[in-house]
Amino acid sequence: MTVALRSDTDAAFNQSPLYENIDLFSSDVPLIEAVEANGAGGEAAALSAFGRQWGTADMFGLARRANENPPKLYVFDPKGFRRDIVEFHPAYHELMRASIAAGLHASTWTRSGLRAAPPAEVTRAARYYMTAQIESGHLCPITMTRAALAPLAAEPSLLAQVAAKVVTTSYDPVLRPWWEKSGVTLGMGMTEKQGGTDVRANSTAATPAGDHYVVTGHKWFLSAPMCDAFLVLAQAPGGLTCFFMPRFRPDGSVNRLNFQRLKDKLGNRSNASSEVEFAEAFALRVGEEGAGIRTIIQMVQLTRLDCALASAGFMRMALAQAVHHCRYRSVFQKHLYDQPMMRAVLADLSLEVEGAVALVMRLARAFDRAAEDPREAAYARAVTPAAKYWICKTAPGFIYEAMECLGGNGYVEESVLPRLYREAPVNAIWEGSGNVMCLDVLRALRRDEEAADLFSALAREVMPLPGAGESRIDLNSERDSEAGARLTVGRLALCAAAAALKASGPSKVTAAFVETRLLASHGALYGAGGIAAPAADLLLQRALPES
Ligand SMILES: Cc1cc2nc3c(=O)[nH]c(=O)nc-3n(C[C@H](O)[C@H](O)[C@H](O)COP(=O)(O)OP(=O)(O)OC[C@H]3O[C@@H](n4cnc5c(N)ncnc54)[C@H](O)[C@@H]3O)c2cc1C
Repeated sequence: MTVALRSDTDAAFNQSPLYENIDLFSSDVPLIEAVEANGAGGEAAALSAFGRQWGTADMFGLARRANENPPKLYVFDPKGFRRDIVEFHPAYHELMRASIAAGLHASTWTRSGLRAAPPAEVTRAARYYMTAQIESGHLCPITMTRAALAPLAAEPSLLAQVAAKVVTTSYDPVLRPWWEKSGVTLGMGMTEKQGGTDVRANSTAATPAGDHYVVTGHKWFLSAPMCDAFLVLAQAPGGLTCFFMPRFRPDGSVNRLNFQRLKDKLGNRSNASSEVEFAEAFALRVGEEGAGIRTIIQMVQLTRLDCALASAGFMRMALAQAVHHCRYRSVFQKHLYDQPMMRAVLADLSLEVEGAVALVMRLARAFDRAAEDPREAAYARAVTPAAKYWICKTAPGFIYEAMECLGGNGYVEESVLPRLYREAPVNAIWEGSGNVMCLDVLRALRRDEEAADLFSALAREVMPLPGAGESRIDLNSERDSEAGARLTVGRLALCAAAAALKASGPSKVTAAFVETRLLASHGALYGAGGIAAPAADLLLQRALPES
């Protein structure tokens, strides 16, 4: 044995270079087109700068370290006094700092708590989509902070004070009273042991005490515990009510949010999710007593949009990793990328992402326009649960398929794929699980004439596409069937995605989407749908430019 032979084993042949130091925006043709089609084309240069910043090797490294070193809860100090502090790895703080500096937590609001002018939603959506590709755990408090300002509109003076602290680009992680900080983050507490979907069963009690309430009870999930305040639901004398619960009381003493433990989660490991006891905690009412669900749903609608955005982002990163690897990896004297069956798989994955990104950006535009246009408001109401259902439930299987394109390399922890795979299911579970999203859409179809008209219009919109006539959806016969709701809502989401693609992508791509997803039943297996070769070639060029 010689030294030369030993050093030979260090050489890596037939491996793809690391997929990093990329521009997450400019390398993503469907994203560029969807941003343009939804009114934010003027932001392209800024989005490209953001895409370059988040696509660096440094950012991939921060994401890895933040997840390899999950947060720890310190309930007591060494002498037995309560601390209730969660410590995060510095990498997590770096990610938070970068997201907050870019306004992901607040750019859709003005400093007085009004909605920022369009295309604020689409621009933020594009940034959020890129950020989720790199690291999603830290986006939990980012999402909730931006969403929490919506229900606070019910209390204008509180909104004005809180918005002034939220709408900054300063990340201030030190635990001190929110009004003394340069920037604050907000979380949410609805779920209790006995129920997360059926929050009417909440047993946490709120007792009026002059200008505030005293809240006693328990939350089974409360993310993210180091936020400066939370919107929580509790039973007041007049029924289930929304409250603003800060970490500190107005006199500067620590509020009684007693954290009990952190959840040991499948994924989402950089983020902390806690179990917490409220021991006569101070809280301010938000909205009327008894209007808790109506009030907090304003927040939930926005967090659901982010779930769909993040899952679409996971799919995009998984696809990019797969296409990139296959372009370099040879098997049987041919690049995987040129093997006919692998091309079919990659093209089909690309088509799924085309539909998902077109839909989420179109949905973001509806949020941009909702205040001025009732049809856009109806679109946001009805399509948000449908998009969350379809995209978030598609992501885990999609990522698994992309992982397999990398073979054993994809299964190994150092690659990004295992983290994406573990992260993906949570977006379908929290903020309303899959069935709950479908029930929401059915409810909208039954009660909300505008929503029913909208879905009919979307279905009509895709009809003129080649062969789409047979995909007609009979809303009248389907809206009453809970057992069939997944089928109905899945098809509605596909219709909405096809219509969004029609407005932003090439006709060949839209036709392939309709043929394989609306005309045929796509099922869970990619590469088996028979995308014609010219469309497959186009999809693959669009997925990642060839270097
Ligand atoms: C990592 C993580 C972090 C979280 N952070 C927070 C947080 O910060 N704040 C917070 O309040 N919550 C949080 N949650 C909780 C989450 O929102 C709930 O788990 C979720 O809403 C589901 O509630 P549940 O767990 O009680 O399940 P259940 O309500 O028991 O539902 C179980 C299943 O039944 C289905 N289902 C419910 N009703 C029906 C029906 N009528 N017909 C058919 N199927 C139905 C649901 O779709 C679901 O699949 C978090 C959860 C996770 C995993």
